[in-house]
Amino acid sequence: MLEKVRVRNSVDIPLSMGVTGTFYTFLGFKNHQEHFAIKFGTPDQDCPLVRVHSECLTGDVFQSLRCDCGNQLKEAMEVLADRGGYLIYLRQEGRGIGLYHKIDAYVLQDQGFDTYEANNKLNFPDDAREFACAAGILEALEITSIKLLSNNPDKLRQISDYGIHVKEMISTGVYVNKHNISYLKAKVKKHKHIINLPQNNNWQLNKLLASQ
Ligand SMILES: [Zn+2]
Repeated sequence: MLEKVRVRNSVDIPLSMGVTGTFYTFLGFKNHQEHFAIKFGTPDQDCPLVRVHSECLTGDVFQSLRCDCGNQLKEAMEVLADRGGYLIYLRQEGRGIGLYHKIDAYVLQDQGFDTYEANNKLNFPDDAREFACAAGILEALEITSIKLLSNNPDKLRQISDYGIHVKEMISTGVYVNKHNISYLKAKVKKHKHIINLPQNNNWQLNKLLASQ
């Protein structure tokens, strides 16, 4: 069900990347979660460019190489600053299981489980994220049609199911390194993310990894 969300407040914040973002807070999320949105530039209000990003403290803030979240966020902010649009930042850390459980899952991954198996072993689903709140935020901002910056078909499906028309999905970059290659492969294999990964043992991949 679409969450009934409304704008609570907004304020301009100048960012070190040289642009000002307008940060919006909202009322109406279950469990009083503090999801927020940032407006960059002057978006096309009829069909703005939108990135829906789920919090990853280790990747977004500390630039962890175990995943590609930090690079994805940086790219999205640069594209949005350049073209105008919205970043919707959802406080659902670690695919919705929280920071501590994500660290527990990393321990299991170091024992050989892939990212989804590790979550399952901790009695969580593959991916506990929900995107109803993103649809609620868009509705509160009076946006009904978007161009979605993402490689994740499940995100597109969920946002569409909640009544937002996704006119186009614009893919994001591939940020592969020797620490996140297994994580990215699992995303492609198990959840059909559209990421063009070089094949393992392929000269392209070896070259890519060697260059880092
Ligand atoms: Zn991450």
